[in-house]
Amino acid sequence: AEKRILQSEKLALAGEIAAGVAHEIRNPLTAVSGFIQMMNEDKESPYYTYTQIIHSELERINLIIGEFLVLSKPHIDDVKKLSITNVCLTIATFLQFEFQSKNIQFTQCIPQDDYFILADENQIKQVLLNILRNAIEAVHDNGRIELSLHANDDHSVTIQLKDDGIGMDAATLAQVFDPFFTTKENGTGLGMMLTSQIIRSFNGNICIDSSKEAGTTIEITFPIIE
Ligand code: ADP
Ligand code: MG
Repeated sequence: AEKRILQSEKLALAGEIAAGVAHEIRNPLTAVSGFIQMMNEDKESPYYTYTQIIHSELERINLIIGEFLVLSKPHIDDVKKLSITNVCLTIATFLQFEFQSKNIQFTQCIPQDDYFILADENQIKQVLLNILRNAIEAVHDNGRIELSLHANDDHSVTIQLKDDGIGMDAATLAQVFDPFFTTKENGTGLGMMLTSQIIRSFNGNICIDSSKEAGTTIEITFPIIE
């Protein structure tokens, strides 16, 4: 058990450092991206091939840095009483385009009652977007994704996300939270690490049930506050 605590402390520290670095890199990166986009407009330029490559590589850096920016804000300031019901109800609108372009059957089962948790809204949204994105990337065309919410007897609330996608074997599942672990060609391997860190920082829990070809169910539980 001792070993495990040390490991998670190390991960948390690595996340903090990475977030700080990401924050510092963001501004110069925005400037460079702007200029490259301008140069890219000149298709006659002898450097056109190069500016195109620079542009796409910068996008890649942006993607990686984007995963960290959520943590770069000091958490404590934004922590407040938050209706998790509301967040769940609105989150899917961010992904409408992705659902449509892959013909995904998305359903949600969210109760009328407001359940409140103590957390930072943007970070909780980031968590839901991370796991929803993974679900979208895991399902085949016409796949199914189901988001639901329910309260438990012990004053906690559970968000459940179910997909019928490619699923994970035991070896993959064991590494899911490891930084930079990815099975995707263009993955960053940072989404699930950040997701678990955010959930833990608000006294929540994440539990994954998955098997190869059968799909994945993720349950995230938070204590309810009055
Ligand atoms: P990335 O999405 O950039 O690969 P993540 O940290 O979000 O990084 O996920 C890590 C790995 O966990 C993924 O590459 C994938 O192998 C696995 N994974 C996560 N969610 C799912 C899911 N819903 N279905 C199947 N595999 C998943
Ligand atoms: Mg991901």
